[in-house]
Amino acid sequence: MTFRARHLLGIEPLAPDEITALIDRADTYAGMARRGEAPAPVLQGQTQINMFFENSTRTQASFEIAGKRLGAQVMNMGVASSSVKKGETLIDTAMTLNAMRPDLLVVRHPSSGAVDLLAEKVTCAVLNAGDGRHEHPTQALLDALTIRRAKGRLHRLTIAICGDIAHSRVARSNILLLGKLENRLRLVGPPTLMPPGAKDWGVEVYDDMTEGLRDADVVMMLRLQKERMDGGFIPSEREYFHRYGLDAGKLAAAKDDAIVMHPGPMNRGVEIDGTIADDINRSVIQEQVEMGVAVRMAAMDLLAANMREANTPRGVLT
Ligand code: ASP
Repeated sequence: MTFRARHLLGIEPLAPDEITALIDRADTYAGMARRGEAPAPVLQGQTQINMFFENSTRTQASFEIAGKRLGAQVMNMGVASSSVKKGETLIDTAMTLNAMRPDLLVVRHPSSGAVDLLAEKVTCAVLNAGDGRHEHPTQALLDALTIRRAKGRLHRLTIAICGDIAHSRVARSNILLLGKLENRLRLVGPPTLMPPGAKDWGVEVYDDMTEGLRDADVVMMLRLQKERMDGGFIPSEREYFHRYGLDAGKLAAAKDDAIVMHPGPMNRGVEIDGTIADDINRSVIQEQVEMGVAVRMAAMDLLAANMREANTPRGVLT
């Protein structure tokens, strides 16, 4: 089985084989980029629109680079200067763009579920670049590829996801993906930043970093998502760093060869110590960024291939 879907909206509907197919293709692209080989222009003649209703550095840039490396025409819709500011709804904006017949629509939106809704209304392939606190599928895929390259496998690993779990779409997509591949997952953070019901997700929950990190193979740190907090979730950033910020002392509880990850943007001195983030022997944060381009190339390549196969009328795929 390979990846046969029409859209990439989340990790939830994906079977383990589909995840592996996406990661394998991305790994091939990552290898080609390292060797300086040009990929086949599989998106030539295709139009890709990036529609970001929320700030982004890595995700937007890497989707743009990924599309261009594969030969697509890429248009970045400046939401700040668009009719969205005049009150146009998400669906009206999407329908307008759809009428211009793009092939790929990459969407980030602050509301959970907005991208799924939009996908129901358009005829092109939709890629979720992050919706509220719901999902961020390409982030989880790039994290998985980074882990597999560093550890040589993507199963039976002990992975600690730490910090602001409650507001994080990165955590949610990673829990889904890594759980499907039979890893041992630990969520570590203050109870105020732990989603209610987390204990029922087949994960272990800790509020102490040293306990949660003990013998971990992978330590994944998360940003404090202040833009999604509407109250006092932590006493102060200083206190938070003291208890939950990753520093050498806390990292010592993990395995000696544990890798450190962060999806970015990082708040140095809040959730992670700068020295750890820059330690090339432990941190794979730059590799995560590198794998981001490869994963987005793979996702768009496979979706475009699925579209071609389904031919017209579009929509044969699920
Ligand atoms: N860049 C990631 C996201 O868009 C993580 C973060 O913002 O903290 O969800």
